[in-house]
Amino acid sequence: MPLAYFNDLASITNGLTAIKIDNLPITELIIDSRNKITTPYPLFFAIVGINHNGHDYIEEAYKKGIRQFVVDHSYNLAITEHYSDVNMLWVTNTLEALQQFVAFYRSKYVLCVLGITGSNGKTIVKEWMHEFLSTKYKTLGSPYSYNSQVGVPLAVSLLRTTHEYAIFESGISKVGEMEKLAKIIQPTHGLFTNIGPAHSKGFQDQQQKVEEKAQLFKDCDTIYYCRDHQLIHETLQRLYGRSKRLRTWSRHSYDTDYFLMRYELPDSNKVSLQISTLRKKATFLTHFRDIASIENIVHCLAYLLDNGFKEEQIQPILLQLKPIAMRTTLKAGIHGCKIIDDSYTNDLTSTSVALDFMDQQQKLDQLNKTVIISDILQSQTVDKILYQELATLLAMHKVNRLIGIGPVISYHASLFCEQQSIFFHTTEAFLQHKPSFKDEIILVKGARTFQLERVVQAIEKNTHGTILETDLGALRDNLTWFRTKLHERTKIMAMVKASAYGSGSDDFELVSTLQRHGIDYLGVAYMDEGIRLRQQGITLPIMVMSPTSDGFNAMVAYQLEPVIYSLELLQELCSFLTEKSSIPIHIKLETGMHRLGIEEALIDPFITHLRTVYPHVASIFSHLVGSESKADDAYTLSQAERFIRMANAIESKLGNKPLRHLLNTNGILRFPQFQFDMVRLGIGLYGVGISKEIQHDLTPVSKLVTTISQIKYLKKGDSIGYNRKTIATQDMTIATIPIGYADGFSRVFGCERGHVVVHGKYCPVVGNVCMDMAMIDVSGIKAQRGDEVIIFGKEYSIDELAKRIGTISYELLTQISQRVKRVYHN
Ligand SMILES: *Cc1c(COP(=O)(O)O)cnc(C)c1O
Repeated sequence: MPLAYFNDLASITNGLTAIKIDNLPITELIIDSRNKITTPYPLFFAIVGINHNGHDYIEEAYKKGIRQFVVDHSYNLAITEHYSDVNMLWVTNTLEALQQFVAFYRSKYVLCVLGITGSNGKTIVKEWMHEFLSTKYKTLGSPYSYNSQVGVPLAVSLLRTTHEYAIFESGISKVGEMEKLAKIIQPTHGLFTNIGPAHSKGFQDQQQKVEEKAQLFKDCDTIYYCRDHQLIHETLQRLYGRSKRLRTWSRHSYDTDYFLMRYELPDSNKVSLQISTLRKKATFLTHFRDIASIENIVHCLAYLLDNGFKEEQIQPILLQLKPIAMRTTLKAGIHGCKIIDDSYTNDLTSTSVALDFMDQQQKLDQLNKTVIISDILQSQTVDKILYQELATLLAMHKVNRLIGIGPVISYHASLFCEQQSIFFHTTEAFLQHKPSFKDEIILVKGARTFQLERVVQAIEKNTHGTILETDLGALRDNLTWFRTKLHERTKIMAMVKASAYGSGSDDFELVSTLQRHGIDYLGVAYMDEGIRLRQQGITLPIMVMSPTSDGFNAMVAYQLEPVIYSLELLQELCSFLTEKSSIPIHIKLETGMHRLGIEEALIDPFITHLRTVYPHVASIFSHLVGSESKADDAYTLSQAERFIRMANAIESKLGNKPLRHLLNTNGILRFPQFQFDMVRLGIGLYGVGISKEIQHDLTPVSKLVTTISQIKYLKKGDSIGYNRKTIATQDMTIATIPIGYADGFSRVFGCERGHVVVHGKYCPVVGNVCMDMAMIDVSGIKAQRGDEVIIFGKEYSIDELAKRIGTISYELLTQISQRVKRVYHN
């Protein structure tokens, strides 16, 4: 069954048929020419995105056999002369045409469609709901993150007559977007997960954001939400209280349809959720314990109960739900140890996953492996068999030392004979006798009741209250996103100079993650950085941008590849290499930066010399000076032109074809036509330093947090800090935080130029920033000693913080000093 025919498309979108061979059927929609074509009559929409212009890929799509196109009429009309055997439609805006077409397509179907929106949890609620609904109905769920202006129409175009139910999520970043998505999804039921600070930039305030999201429900008959979110409750009541069925759940208010009570079950790793209505009570068990997951689960439960699902249909699925990504945290420990903190669940499956993770880490560091594990509180399996399986698992992973905590594991001590082992009946006993640790990688894994987080605290290196957290999952996601912006064959060099833009430390988690995820090359500034990476077991090719001639010896020994940026440097390298083994080199061309590089005027003598002495050139490259700014676009083009000219000249005289590379992060985003053989990805990998429009596609990898050391109450007229730079103009509450300019928290932030975030609110920095401390204004916020203070992170942009003091995120990141503790989330 086709989605429609070409003539329908023309009339729905009001387009102008530029060329037509026939009124062909349309069997699928394609917007990315690299996608696999699975049906006979695909239609290509040339969408103009920030990173790609679909019109540049028409030729490629044609070569793959696509014969139907929707193009923007203002783009190069010559396209039409090129092809004669295609259907081509001109429209004024291809994205709008896509949306109109799919809205029309959707309206042909009568079925139950659940539309989900909210700040957090929409993807997981959608995935879980899909699992529940699929037990009863043939259900379509939007693919993983198809929730944008382009993603939603693509998801909806997958509807077929066989579907009985559909679930679509929608995400927006500014006013006016939801109305368009609502027309495409046409939900019959709506679900509003919650509201948080994410993606706030496109909105005046929270109120506006909630109202905008609520537009999704304009034509629904029933809306589900948690009435404890006050703003959501008020807004939906006001907009739809009269016209629609509002179905709510609550933890606090009895004025609700579904009332939730949560119980901890002693001696079990599950939580009990009791959901009552006026007439009935239903009780469910779940393994999830964190507040966010429980909320997501109860959204599902309320919806399912309201739609005729029975307790016994829900419960088995509920126990099988999986989180989207398992999270373990890697921390620095005392005496050269590393800790894998997984101290809140304990069952054999997750232990096995954690042991795999430990293996990956251990390979890099060659540390001894220690496992600290509590009793496994799992009732189904007989104890003896359970602990036998655990022993086998530990032996398989060649664990060197086991520390068992709990009466049951202690009782089974004799089963663990493959490794050195010691047992404690309680966590207290462990803390009293604290065994010593040195140069080990330690996995801490335990059931919640054992509070093994206290064990972690005891062995964690804890010098300073400020932490730089690195989200390795976000790093992987960012890398994947950039891959989708590049041709399949384009290689990626990850720029990890300055300890990976400040995120890395001597542990090199970040670089080893990149190595595991198929990066082709690494780029560092200095030889020493390369040597450290090699010593940590990094095997990728490494390009060193500023080599010195006295280091060539070490570079050969560590297989580091120098950048050659002048004839002199080439000569020095050659004289050194005569009797030694050879190393690949990278030639840097001067195209406009006026920093390092071979100038065009000097290219001939350079080539002559190169040819006679040194044929092994791995790559030729140059660097753009203003890839992020439109004002410099003409200059960028001239740089690219010169680069191509010079690279051609070198290549024509060399025997081989070196890799060419020119683009940095913003170059990749704005000039994909110059990606050549490789790109050099820097700041974007860390999820920052990019334009606002694409910020929501990428996740900042680093979060800098500290905690409040002390609260002080000041009277009007009191002064704060050195030189009395801030005087309280009224009574105020301030907090002292343990971060100062020696940590990389610039002195320029002082005297209200910078701010930090406490309980979701911005607090200005008051007084001068000291070397190790700073003071912030927390008046009107219920802040306490020990509360978290965010300097920057996912929701609090480092780019904006940098802007406040006239610098860029690159500088703020790389200035975070090594004394700030690094923690890695996986
Ligand atoms: C640092 C650097 C990059 C990466 O730049 P970003 O803007 O961070 O992507 C690329 N090329 C060279 C030569 C660099 O020094």
